[in-house]
Amino acid sequence: MKGKSMNKVKAYSAASATSALAHSSIPRRDPEATDVQIEILFCGICHSDLHAARNEWSEFMPTVYPIVPGHEIVGRVTKIGSAVKNFKPGDLAAVGCLVDSDGTCPECRAGFENFCPNMVLTFNSPDKHLGGVTYGGYSESIVVDQRFVLHVPSNLPLAGTAPLLCAGITTYSPLRRWKVGKGQKVGVVGLGGLGHMGVKFAHALGAHVVVFTTSPNKKEDALRLGAHEVVVSRNADEMQKHNESFDFILDAVSGDHDINAYINLLRRDGNLTIVGAPPRPLGVSALSLIMRRRSFSGSNIGGIAETQEMLNFCGQHNITADVEVIPIQKVNEAYERLLKSDVKYRFSIDMASLKSE
Ligand code: NAP
Ligand code: ZN
Repeated sequence: MKGKSMNKVKAYSAASATSALAHSSIPRRDPEATDVQIEILFCGICHSDLHAARNEWSEFMPTVYPIVPGHEIVGRVTKIGSAVKNFKPGDLAAVGCLVDSDGTCPECRAGFENFCPNMVLTFNSPDKHLGGVTYGGYSESIVVDQRFVLHVPSNLPLAGTAPLLCAGITTYSPLRRWKVGKGQKVGVVGLGGLGHMGVKFAHALGAHVVVFTTSPNKKEDALRLGAHEVVVSRNADEMQKHNESFDFILDAVSGDHDINAYINLLRRDGNLTIVGAPPRPLGVSALSLIMRRRSFSGSNIGGIAETQEMLNFCGQHNITADVEVIPIQKVNEAYERLLKSDVKYRFSIDMASLKSE
């Protein structure tokens, strides 16, 4: 947009659904009165980055190219606008999936910016400041309104903190919503970025945690991460042993799978919440729900206040993601590994690697 002052910064972007991510340069606005400018230190790689880069959600949320993915951002404040009160240059700061919302609708007023009809996602949303679309965290820096900037507990390692901004809040929020705690049997389906955070939170909340995985080689890790039992979901006998026994199941799977196999493991009134977002619809059996008054629901990240609550919870319980730190130059390789379920358990990009481009 004319008249706005801005800088060009380094980034990694994809030019089309079939292009690899590559070095590019993008505009960032100069901080306005309520803005915080952040130098990005680490950015996690979420499977949503891959879905979006490859336009896999084209019917629901078509991708505008070029796309700069990345919504698990931690960094250091470099500059603030004149009206910013809660941050100063040098502070640690974090940004998740949202960078704006209307602030006035019933959802925003209830603290659910994540359900605001006018929310602005960190990437691939219309950018009301510069025109075009928003660009995410695979970049040197970002400028975000102070309402959407989070405080990072000082005791947490930063590479493993970045993934809390999406994988963390997306699993924490439904576990709290469904009041998971002591005395409950809780399943987590899919031990990837989201799933492994779900295991850590469900364990910290006191539940009996069972992991369902298609990868037998993740069994020991699942136990180390806090699971009490591990089920290889391709084994029908192992699945059958848990029939009608769960209070709550969190499904964090990124691809096609049989959802009814998990609904059948819920007891009467049990709930299965899906946070995974496979591009194709899942066939849900009405009878499986009806016969035990079970419920099936979804959940989308979390509001800003709850995201700060989650970060504080992580600070108190020393919870971070288990990360494999990579330079940005390995991002395309990391995407291919995500597709093979070969992630332990989140890739976190050391953004210092972008300086050499
Ligand atoms: P991820 O790290 O790639 O993990 C996904 C895991 O799901 C894999 O490691 C694998 O675990 C399992 N899996 C993959 N394909 C499968 C298949 N076809 N059948 C059965 N299991 C399969 O992905 P993520 O970053 O955690 O994201 C997971 C999903 O959540 C994605 O669809 C993402 O877009 C979505 N998401 C949603 C929200 C939200 O707000 N609701 C937020 C962030 C992400 P095992 O090896 O253990 O089987
Ligand atoms: Zn994400």
